[in-house]
Amino acid sequence: MLGPPGAGKGTQAERLARAIGIPHLSTGDMLRTNVANDTDLGRQAKAFMEAGDLVPDELVTAMVIDRLAQDDAACGYLLDGYPRNPAQAQSLVDAFGEEVLELALLLEVDPDELVQRLVLRGQEQGRSDDTEAVIRNRLAVYEEQTAPLVEYYESAGRLARVEGLGTIPEIFGRLIEVLAA
Ligand code: AMP
Repeated sequence: MLGPPGAGKGTQAERLARAIGIPHLSTGDMLRTNVANDTDLGRQAKAFMEAGDLVPDELVTAMVIDRLAQDDAACGYLLDGYPRNPAQAQSLVDAFGEEVLELALLLEVDPDELVQRLVLRGQEQGRSDDTEAVIRNRLAVYEEQTAPLVEYYESAGRLARVEGLGTIPEIFGRLIEVLAA
């Protein structure tokens, strides 16, 4: 699941994974759990997350490779928030082969809409990286580092674009249609 922060990746990925019966693997959630549990990884990741920067590739990639090797991921998984840059995409291929990701689902949302959604989420959920200054940095990081993956998956013939504006069920319906096709 690919898309800018605030596009609704987490919400939709969770529903979609449940509908298909595969694990929803969110690197953001995994990292937040590590921070909350004050693990070594959490301590190393915390400052990057609070600034809205990417956590260094080697830390996140090791975490993802461990997770994908667990039994419940043997029959498929929905990755949410990874890969976040071309180097991470390459690491996945190096570890598991070209077939590691069958399809990249891109949730497309107008940038003006994103800031509003994220500010609202910050107020509702109290996420410390949902303040306006950090949001702006996360959007810039997305444009610089993550957006090049759109072309990467498109040229590999593995990209599906889904309009991310609408109600949660509407967007979910579009995702199901794309997967069915
Ligand atoms: P998310 O919940 O996907 O918005 O991720 C929250 C934060 O976790 C990001 O702003 C990054 O600091 C960190 N993060 C999540 N996934 C990755 C990743 N694949 N690579 C580097 N940092 C990540």
